[in-house]
Amino acid sequence: MEHVEVLIIGSGPAGYTAALYVARAGLQAVLYQGMLAGGQLMETTEIENFPGYPQGTNGSDMMADLEKQAARFGADIRTGDVVAVDFSKQTHLITIEDDTQLTADAVIIATGASAKYLGLDSEQRLKGGGVSACATCDGFFYREKTVAVVGGGDTAAEEALYLSSLAKKVYLIVRKPHLRASKIMQRRVLENPKIEVLFEHNTVEILGDQVVTGVKLVQYKGAPKEKTYDLPIDGFFLAIGHKPNSDIFKPYIATDELGYIITDNKSSKTNVRGVFACGDVQDSTYRQAITAAGSGCMAALDAERYVSELKFNK
Ligand code: NDP
Repeated sequence: MEHVEVLIIGSGPAGYTAALYVARAGLQAVLYQGMLAGGQLMETTEIENFPGYPQGTNGSDMMADLEKQAARFGADIRTGDVVAVDFSKQTHLITIEDDTQLTADAVIIATGASAKYLGLDSEQRLKGGGVSACATCDGFFYREKTVAVVGGGDTAAEEALYLSSLAKKVYLIVRKPHLRASKIMQRRVLENPKIEVLFEHNTVEILGDQVVTGVKLVQYKGAPKEKTYDLPIDGFFLAIGHKPNSDIFKPYIATDELGYIITDNKSSKTNVRGVFACGDVQDSTYRQAITAAGSGCMAALDAERYVSELKFNK
């Protein structure tokens, strides 16, 4: 069975940055890209807030650059999804989808999180054409335009408030007659003159051929006064939650109640020695490409120290 020094799972900015640092430190770095190579950024159009790209770049170009940079220092980047892990022993066992098994001294988990979608065909078709799950990433393109945010939690409130500083008008589409967000966020939303909350509304279709032109809404679904109508908008933002991709690690790795991996304060260490986590799978707060890349660097440094200690103690 192949044995590697540091195995990295996931290929967003966190995973690639970790691979770059590990390889550049002279350790053997093997990275498995996973199902969606490049991670969530492959779905965004333009990235203008990653330092070092004065003219901006797009998600797939940035991921291709990060991959090349990691490979330049010798990181071994492989396609394939990790389907199972066994962290019960000091040497970690990893199983890939084709049943290949590897062992590793250290593992860096960088599997990210996936935005939840409503499950509409039109939503998938218009991804990148006005449908987005990240206001901070894409909000800038809607200056003086009309947008809608779906969701009633803190994320939706935050996204609506952020968009209100750019857009002309923000609709907040909430399926219940009340918001779930914290009181302070609710107050900010309700007091913002640019935000109109559409309570008891469900989105049934996003309209538009190439780009979003509107949204079909059902008000008071199932009630005698149910009403369906089209609302013209330019951008549609999902904010109904994220799901960290941590399921396969849960038998060994401690997560919070939402599934985010718990790391030691100011480090990437998990509850299992030699297993580190970085990027969105352990971050429910910041969720930015730059913060993911930064935490990938931290995980690499932590893994490097761990592997050095292992060698020293052998
Ligand atoms: P939440 O799970 O708190 O809220 C999700 C919202 O989306 C709910 O209003 C829910 O409606 C709605 N929703 C879910 N599925 C659908 C659907 N299919 N159609 C329409 N609406 C739907 O997720 P958040 O991402 O908002 O927050 C996650 C956690 O992170 C929370 O604990 C939150 O407090 C925290 N957070 C904190 C922030 C802060 O403190 N600054 C910022 C952002 C998040 P319903 O209410 O009907 O279930």
